[in-house]
Amino acid sequence: MVPRFSRLEPMPRAGERLLIAANGVFLEIARPWLRVVRRLGPFQHRTAIPYGDASEETDLTCGRIPASLIGDFAAMARSAYPKETGAWIVWNVATSAFRLLPVRILEHSAGHLKYERPPLAGDDVLVVDCHSHGHAPAFFSVTDDVDDRHDVKFAFVIGNCASAAPSMALRLCAKGIFEKVETVPAEWYAVASTEVVA
Ligand SMILES: [Zn+2]
Repeated sequence: MVPRFSRLEPMPRAGERLLIAANGVFLEIARPWLRVVRRLGPFQHRTAIPYGDASEETDLTCGRIPASLIGDFAAMARSAYPKETGAWIVWNVATSAFRLLPVRILEHSAGHLKYERPPLAGDDVLVVDCHSHGHAPAFFSVTDDVDDRHDVKFAFVIGNCASAAPSMALRLCAKGIFEKVETVPAEWYAVASTEVVA
């Protein structure tokens, strides 16, 4: 229940909860690296709800994802081409360091990728799940939607992998909520590009 006369205290530890507010039902998700609040829906009838309003919030506690790791993944995607490949960008809660963790590929071809989720040490959390699309452009397929349904992470796709300027797609996945990031950071394109700037 969202309080009417005081501020809603964020969840103190990792987890999820439903917030019942005067302006609808919201989902709050807390992870060591991220806190989000999203509205699941409004009420169907204008009845009096004795609670306060909630608002959508996004707090990226881990800070900016280093572009250099996107560059490293772009190099992996280029060397796997025309096959697809994948890797995770993980963040260490204790040291605040990011690193790229290759996934163990079970099967891959020019059109699909099946991999094993890497086991994570105690302080490591998944932040960006990266995969490549070989020669195809970057987009989220129906298979990607099924794969991403239960996770809390960013999903990142790199496509046209042999091109000097590969295509990219990025979205936030939060327990079935998919939010496309309309503008992939310009420095991500810069580090993935093999174009020689005169
Ligand atoms: Zn895909």
